[in-house]
Amino acid sequence: MGTVRAVGDTARRLMGRAPPVTRQLGTGASRRPRSLSAGGSSHTAGVTVPGGERALCVSARSGLCWSCRAALSRAELFCPSCTSLQPPDHTKDYFQVLGCDKSFNVDIQELQKKYRNLQRLLHPDHFSQKSQNERDLSEKQSSLVNKAYGTLLSPLSRGLYLLSQHGITLEDGSDGVVDAQFLFEILEISEKLTEINGDAEIEEIGNVVQAKCEKLTEEVRNAFQQGNLKEVKILLAKMKYFSNIQNQVKKKILP
Ligand code: ZN
Repeated sequence: MGTVRAVGDTARRLMGRAPPVTRQLGTGASRRPRSLSAGGSSHTAGVTVPGGERALCVSARSGLCWSCRAALSRAELFCPSCTSLQPPDHTKDYFQVLGCDKSFNVDIQELQKKYRNLQRLLHPDHFSQKSQNERDLSEKQSSLVNKAYGTLLSPLSRGLYLLSQHGITLEDGSDGVVDAQFLFEILEISEKLTEINGDAEIEEIGNVVQAKCEKLTEEVRNAFQQGNLKEVKILLAKMKYFSNIQNQVKKKILP
């Protein structure tokens, strides 16, 4: 009754601004799930390209170098004949941008290695003597690489991204996704956090929440492997609550 509503309200505050989404699971589940192994949804044509980049992206799509018109493979960042940097390929997903396997189970060390390598190749120093066009392209490529890396690095955003690749999103305020018992648990931790002030106690909560996130990450990994996207969505919703508590913990430790 009143208590459940209160929990819902607190949960909403923790999750962000949006109103409760009650039919969310239904909507997500009613979508036709795409094959987990296909990974091809973003290869298809008709990908939206932000305005202004249209002209530059034409050459990427047609597979010709914008500068010397040599034929290019999709994977190439630099033209093999004239060495010009090529425009971002917006048909690539973030895993392809970084050259990693499309999986929740991505090797983080490999991800970091690929990221550093790309940032080295795209470093502004290499483009200071180049044309304005190429300097612009290096900025665009670099920001795409940063965005891809930032998204794939943390289990929560990586999971949400993979889920969105299957047409399922997790809106803010999705307390309809998780059960009441879980919301009580979150409420309890959240209340405890507002009551305490000692660094040791705050850290203790931080450690508990960290452990919960690690366990959830393992569960998300399994659910993705089993192709159980409905379960993935529930687990990621829970992880999002804990992630918000982690942010509160950080704020309390570093005022
Ligand atoms: Zn070229």
